[in-house]
Amino acid sequence: MLPRTMIPFFLPCMLAAGFFALTEHAAVAQTSAKATLAPLPPSKPPTTEQAREKILPAKQLFGEKQLPSLGKAVAIGYYPRGCLAGGVDLPVNGPTWQVMRLSRNRNWGHPSLINFVERFAALASKATGWQGILVGDLAQPRGGPSVSDHASHQIGLDVDIWFMPMPDHVLSKEDRDTIAASSLVAADWKHLNPQTWTSQHIAFIKTAAEQPEVERVLVNAVIKKELCRVEGKQDHGWMAKVRPWYGHQDHIHVRLRCPADSPNCRAQPPVSGTDGCDAKELNYWFSDKVLAPQIHPTKPATPPKPLMLADLPPACKTVLEAPDKKTSVATDRH
Ligand SMILES: [Zn+2]
Repeated sequence: MLPRTMIPFFLPCMLAAGFFALTEHAAVAQTSAKATLAPLPPSKPPTTEQAREKILPAKQLFGEKQLPSLGKAVAIGYYPRGCLAGGVDLPVNGPTWQVMRLSRNRNWGHPSLINFVERFAALASKATGWQGILVGDLAQPRGGPSVSDHASHQIGLDVDIWFMPMPDHVLSKEDRDTIAASSLVAADWKHLNPQTWTSQHIAFIKTAAEQPEVERVLVNAVIKKELCRVEGKQDHGWMAKVRPWYGHQDHIHVRLRCPADSPNCRAQPPVSGTDGCDAKELNYWFSDKVLAPQIHPTKPATPPKPLMLADLPPACKTVLEAPDKKTSVATDRH
């Protein structure tokens, strides 16, 4: 869940782009019908797969897919520009985890991500004393851009995990869709929220960043600053992986390295190797440029152009058009 301040990526409902294209088409047809006095058949929405792929934003095409593609699991492309073949779902309940926001159908990922979440849930539970963890979004069944607020999470290697302990009972589907994640950051975006911040959160973040398959852990800068204050002098390797980013006041975003079985997965440039506690680097995140839009979010004057299927790696077209992989778990989920 990126914040509203991630303006270039935030605008939901690019369905609208497809809608406008069709409406405009219909209007042109009506005008020419009047001009020639010869009624033309009404313009129909594009029905062939090929036409839809050209006209509709990729987020709509991928968002429609309820099941993963048939075939072996492969992460394709770059974290914010790619897709996922042969996705696997994370069971919505485990001994030490529960998946939130089930209606979004985003509990899919590359098997390395599913394995990570299951392993991390047990480790984090032990490190924090929590009953378990609450898991937010992974990827859509076939990855790709999504209809709401994620720029990344496209190749099945990103997961959001809440800063709240799992309760001692199984949450209802409704609870999972409505319970809000609590923020660890105060309303001024400069201080921790003393009502919610606990030392267990340090253990939670540290446990995630220590795992070898983890490439980065994104947290709000206020949290990173606190980690620097508490842990920064000890030169821990894991601290380098924990990086500040917009939002992330109520969850960590964990990104895994490209798995060996995915040659077309593009690696992110490695972190700098420092612990990220340099004052100059941290201060940027407390500048007006970053804080002002977080405090007063605004919509951009011109919406960013949505990604189209042609903007993604060519293999994503194959993934989109592939038959469904039927999974026994998926049918129970909704
Ligand atoms: Zn995320």
